[in-house]
Amino acid sequence: MKKIKGVSVSGGVAIGKVQIINQNKLVIKRHNIDKFEVEEELTKFEDSIEHVVEEIDLLIENISQSKVNKDILEAHKMILKDPDLTANIKKSIKTELLSLEKAIKLHFTDVIELFDNMENDYLSTRSSDYEDVAYRLLSHVLKQNDHLSHEINENAILVMNKISPSMATKVFKKQINGLCMEKGSKNSHSSIIARSMNLPMIVNVESIIDAVKDEDLVILNGNNGDVIVHPDDATIQKYRKFVAKQDEEKSQLLKVVDLPTKTKDNKKIPLMSNIEIPDEIQQVRKVKSEGIGLFRTEFLFMGTNKLPIEEEQFEIYKKVAEECYPNPLVIRTIDIGGDKLTKLLNIEHEVNPNLGCRGIRISLKYDLIFKQQIKAILRANLKGNIKIMFPMISCVAEIKKSKKIIQECSDELKVNKIKHNPNIKIGAMIEIPSAAITSDLLAKECDFLSIGTNDLVQYTMAVDRDNASLSEYYQPSHLSVLRLIKMTIENAHKENIKVALCGEMASEKKYIKLLIGLDVDELSVSPGRFLMVKKEILNTNYEAAAKLDEKIFHALVEV
Ligand code: PEP
Ligand code: MG
Repeated sequence: MKKIKGVSVSGGVAIGKVQIINQNKLVIKRHNIDKFEVEEELTKFEDSIEHVVEEIDLLIENISQSKVNKDILEAHKMILKDPDLTANIKKSIKTELLSLEKAIKLHFTDVIELFDNMENDYLSTRSSDYEDVAYRLLSHVLKQNDHLSHEINENAILVMNKISPSMATKVFKKQINGLCMEKGSKNSHSSIIARSMNLPMIVNVESIIDAVKDEDLVILNGNNGDVIVHPDDATIQKYRKFVAKQDEEKSQLLKVVDLPTKTKDNKKIPLMSNIEIPDEIQQVRKVKSEGIGLFRTEFLFMGTNKLPIEEEQFEIYKKVAEECYPNPLVIRTIDIGGDKLTKLLNIEHEVNPNLGCRGIRISLKYDLIFKQQIKAILRANLKGNIKIMFPMISCVAEIKKSKKIIQECSDELKVNKIKHNPNIKIGAMIEIPSAAITSDLLAKECDFLSIGTNDLVQYTMAVDRDNASLSEYYQPSHLSVLRLIKMTIENAHKENIKVALCGEMASEKKYIKLLIGLDVDELSVSPGRFLMVKKEILNTNYEAAAKLDEKIFHALVEV
């Protein structure tokens, strides 16, 4: 028996037989061409692009029938249609006399390197989309057309180097038990989907491919990142019991799907979902979420070496809004740090990005990008169920400026006779202490507030939310944080507006009663945690929770 430590990106325990998935290596033998071959090579390039786009279209058709989302593949098509790609590859063929395959390889190596070198994992994870497209295109050009040579076994634990998005779309259609990878990251498409499907997944597992072979029994403990290879009988028994309990809990949770979300004493607490990529909508529907309380749109800005234009965003927002209708879709404008956009926007490196130009600050500084996003949202709001939410608000002036920009966008769309719906509710995220402290003023300018506890705790306790070694200082239930939450809710209610809470605190069982007692109106959680949270709401008595909170506050003062 051997234990290898990885990084858990999706919790739960899985036991199963290994299936190693390899992606075939593509070999380039022809590097240069003669001058007379240039025209032929250029034609081959155009044909190849056309062919691969058609191949992706075909996949999209099949995939949409089997209900796995097609957005990743749409993004891949966009990569193929990128004018920069065409210009670069044609230039390499014409001026450097490179073979098509060599030119493709060179172009993608540069782009992939650009993303890989992004300091924060948000953008760097998107290099896998480019690797995937490069693989598809090259395998067509080289006529080595075997992208994924395996049939996926049922109940397998898939072991691979890393998962490309197109492999992910295949893999997530199958009934597998878990995923284990040598590389990968928390914010990759596949990790996000695994989390919303509650599928155990561990990444960064060193040399796992060498440590196992097909059919070996392994245990993945997605709760702590342990991968147990060749477990002994006692360990297997122990984890089998765990899995049985986990399965039982899952089936118990399914019983609450159709129940209305209210406390024992009949207080309704609308429960919504947080999504990062449109693919998650399937899970949102499965758990019968009452809308999307947080669409983290910055993820759309990360899969490309170009920022998505208004049209692309419009299509995505429209589709998600339609899927949600008649429930609300809260679209949060990009909440990205300057550190993640330095290459794309050509901005200065910041020493302390979490306190730098991020969220609404980026949007107000680069208002062209902001306006494209706002226009796309207003255009997608034809059914009227979209709300706009601004991240990292620190003062009322930012809301006023943002509202002015919304008005300008609406005026411009009107002048250009572009269909849109300017009647849209506007909200601020309360995730900086200054916003919570001035929430009385923000509430007068907004239609709703949404508390982002992930950042609120970080900024209140002055502790990096991603620094595991400081986790003892990261305390969502610290009196200071609870006071800010309480203050925000009271101030909002004085202005007759609602307060949602969309930080991870809402997904933790131990805080749900506390939050309901504080009179929060709505909760928004990851689709993978949705049913657990719903069950806890059903188990809560609102009046009793409010009384308990008084005691808790009292006790915290005394500590
Ligand atoms: C938060 O800060 O609580 C939040 C929901 O936003 P994010 O996690 O995207 O920063
Ligand atoms: Mg935040």
